[in-house]
Amino acid sequence: MFSALPVVMNESRIKVAIAGGGIAGLALAAGLVKKPHIDVHVYESVPEYKDVGAGLALHLNAIKAMSLIGPEVQQAYLDKALMMGEEDQVMATEVILAQGPHSGQLVAELGKAKGRKTVSRADLLDGLTALLPRDRISFGKRLVSIKERPATSSSGRRAEVLLTFKDGSQVSADCLLGADGVHSFTRSYLLGADNPVTAPKNHDGWRIYRTMVPTEEAVRHINPKWTRSVPILLGPRGHINCIPLNKNTRLSAGVAVRTGAEITDEDGQPPPPLDPDLYADYSADAQQIVRLVARGDTARSSWAAADHDHAPFYMRGRVAMFGDAAHAALPFAGNGAAQALEDAAVLNALFGAVEEPGQGIARALHAFDAVRRPRSQAVVDIARTFGRVYAYAEDDMHEDPPRLRAFFDRWAAFTNEFDVAAQNAAALEMFAALGQQEGDSVDGA
Ligand code: FAD
Repeated sequence: MFSALPVVMNESRIKVAIAGGGIAGLALAAGLVKKPHIDVHVYESVPEYKDVGAGLALHLNAIKAMSLIGPEVQQAYLDKALMMGEEDQVMATEVILAQGPHSGQLVAELGKAKGRKTVSRADLLDGLTALLPRDRISFGKRLVSIKERPATSSSGRRAEVLLTFKDGSQVSADCLLGADGVHSFTRSYLLGADNPVTAPKNHDGWRIYRTMVPTEEAVRHINPKWTRSVPILLGPRGHINCIPLNKNTRLSAGVAVRTGAEITDEDGQPPPPLDPDLYADYSADAQQIVRLVARGDTARSSWAAADHDHAPFYMRGRVAMFGDAAHAALPFAGNGAAQALEDAAVLNALFGAVEEPGQGIARALHAFDAVRRPRSQAVVDIARTFGRVYAYAEDDMHEDPPRLRAFFDRWAAFTNEFDVAAQNAAALEMFAALGQQEGDSVDGA
């Protein structure tokens, strides 16, 4: 029996429920909360955020997306982000061949910028949460059921989405925007739990080993220059990377191993420990970093990476998914959070144009889907391809450094240098065009 209060016709504000208070959900809520015609609420499953030690290096498209949502969103990031080195120091992710005849050759400088910054996921969530009045976010609310009810003219009830949480509580809203991460419940509702593209996949069998050590300790084991820069050292049995965090006081170092055979959740076996002997033909610097990573409890700090096969749609009616829920990517192109923020920027602009609850919501979600799906799915593909290129498994590119350089330049332009404002404008244009073509039949209101 459904006990939540239905959405009634005399409430003129648009009730937007966001499931998931990660980067995508909070960034969108920070934009929507400023719009007087929107009543936004975030439902987050965890009782409180925990620092899981994840560090993000946001590319320029992420920063542009934040500033489109609002200067205070960008400021929240700037307040929490820390320089990797010094403010006037140019930093880039240097992609370097570390095995084979061209070992030592630099093939890309990704995201090159002065005073490049990193931010811990937990700090960024903290900054974004502070932009929301406390009553706009509820913790401990795990979404477990979604039901859609059409409008009924006899009772004057408007179309609504009914949400049920694990604790038994229920709410209703004019629409649901699911930003509930890689294992999204909203995704499973939209696409079907049995749909082969719903669950995350690890087609290439990636296994990622990481360690976090104080920089003063790291310099005793590895070439100190790798504690002041962001290298990705490539080779066929795994790529190795280092990220200086907290103004060079901590170092995150990792080895990503492509096993080449799909790993599924069901395997459930503890991963084998990282074996430095397998890297004997890598450059001396790379071998040192592998040994540093292998010193820790690699079985515990290792996990299988995952991404999503392409969803055929991101919305239906008044329910949509965005961020990792819609298009989780492998971490190799450093653009997952950036794509989540681009989604939030587009949805924020579109909901600015939706004037009333009965009209325009589905049209806005159609425009979001049309504009964002091709681009965000291209980034999922890029990240997969980057992974294979890093592992010398893509078209023998590692044998041709100039070709590798051209490859990376092309894709850096697609992510880092993308015109995010033009994407928002395209979405708004499509929203208007859909209105003219089809009236509100597209809305199912
Ligand atoms: P999430 O951050 O996963 O948030 C989802 C939220 O939904 C969570 O808070 C969760 O608790 C909540 N939730 C889940 N289920 C439910 C439910 N049923 N009901 C309610 N709430 C629910 N991206 C970059 O741009 N740059 C980088 O440098 C970078 N580095 C990365 C490194 C690694 C190792 C990894 C794994 C990822 C990296 N990414 C990077 C990707 C980035 O972290 C993600 O793309 C981003 O966090 C996605 O944000 P999100 O809000 O969509 O999802």
